Amino acid sequence: MSNSRRSFITKAALAAALAPLAPMATFGRGLEEAVERTPMVSPPSNIKITDVKCGYIGGSLFVKIFSDQDIYGLGEGVDAIGGTYHLVQRLGRQLKGRSPFNMHQIFEQMRRGGHFGGGQSGMYVAVLSAIETALWDLTGKALGLPVYQLLGGKFRDKVRVYCDTALYRSTFPSPDDFANAAKEAIKNWNFNALKFDLDFVADPDKYDRWNWTASPGEISRMYNQLAAVREAVGPKIDLCVDMHGRYDHVTAQTIAKKVEPLNLTWLEEPIPAENFDAFKTICEETSTPIAAGENVYLGHGFKQLLDNGVDFIMPDLQKCGGLGEGQRIANLANLYYVPFAPHMVASLLGAMACAHVCVTVPNFHIMEWQSYFHTNKMYREIVTFDEENWVKDSFIKVSEKPGIGVDLNMEAMKKYATPGVPFFE
Ligand SMILES: [Mg+2]
Repeated sequence: MSNSRRSFITKAALAAALAPLAPMATFGRGLEEAVERTPMVSPPSNIKITDVKCGYIGGSLFVKIFSDQDIYGLGEGVDAIGGTYHLVQRLGRQLKGRSPFNMHQIFEQMRRGGHFGGGQSGMYVAVLSAIETALWDLTGKALGLPVYQLLGGKFRDKVRVYCDTALYRSTFPSPDDFANAAKEAIKNWNFNALKFDLDFVADPDKYDRWNWTASPGEISRMYNQLAAVREAVGPKIDLCVDMHGRYDHVTAQTIAKKVEPLNLTWLEEPIPAENFDAFKTICEETSTPIAAGENVYLGHGFKQLLDNGVDFIMPDLQKCGGLGEGQRIANLANLYYVPFAPHMVASLLGAMACAHVCVTVPNFHIMEWQSYFHTNKMYREIVTFDEENWVKDSFIKVSEKPGIGVDLNMEAMKKYATPGVPFFE
């Protein structure tokens, strides 16, 4: 079946070589060429889904949608994915025999199908996100187009990313540790935007682990850590700060005011993202921009954040609803003149899927990236990709290949697969 694809590639290469001599020769042949490169069992528009399988590594769910045209689609879900194997099987059975092309219709059918079962958030939407993403990848591969093109085309070729320094993995880092992590991220990988976390349960100045009011000692420690970073990196580096929703309203107000002289790009989730109304007064009373959204699902949740004046929204496209919903959320934020800065903790597959959405909206600001992607070899092993699509100088170049443009290395994935859960069975 792949012979017809190979013959198309040969023809396409020939056409590209001749293009400067005869620019009109191939004009308007998109449909004809799509038919030529499609296996003869059916034209691209007749593609049918044959199976849906999945595997798990750490905090990620990987979905693979198979078709009757020797191509497959890949998608990733994160965070809310534990125990979802049977949910993937159930939703996957609904897809067998169907065309992947009607992504919005399939998404809406599945979303409505979960209405009475808590399908408004959590694991259900994370699985839906992974499946929906795989439908875009499969459709892009069938039509020979990158996903961003299916989403309406691009405003930019590359996506700016910030480096989460992941210092939260340390027990209790000092201001010097903060400053050194900042300098290392800039020296090693040339990032121009960084993120640090302020919530440390092990802080000796924390008197009660259940009460969310930071003590004067904790407030002072937070300020000193950030001031050390700002002094180390100078005024031009974006400095983002995360509190992981582990403080209360009065602490949020206090720390947001106190760090105003440090010119943060944003202060993220100073309170949990459950009571959207509580963000309103925090946002109103400080000049420090407030960000939230990594634990918010679907456009409905983001409308409430936006109505309460949140300055940056940060949906995680691997769990908030997928690529179509991610684009809709970004466009909704654009109506409020609010920038779109997606949260991202997935593999390069998920990162590139997110990047395809980021290039298609005017209000994209910056996307998350993790320092451990550079230091933990697993993140390069489990995917196959073009080196030009790995992060460089604080940017990720969107892939021009059909679909998402990143494949999974199944042999490498097996080494890291979550034990006790079926692996693509
Ligand atoms: Mg966060």
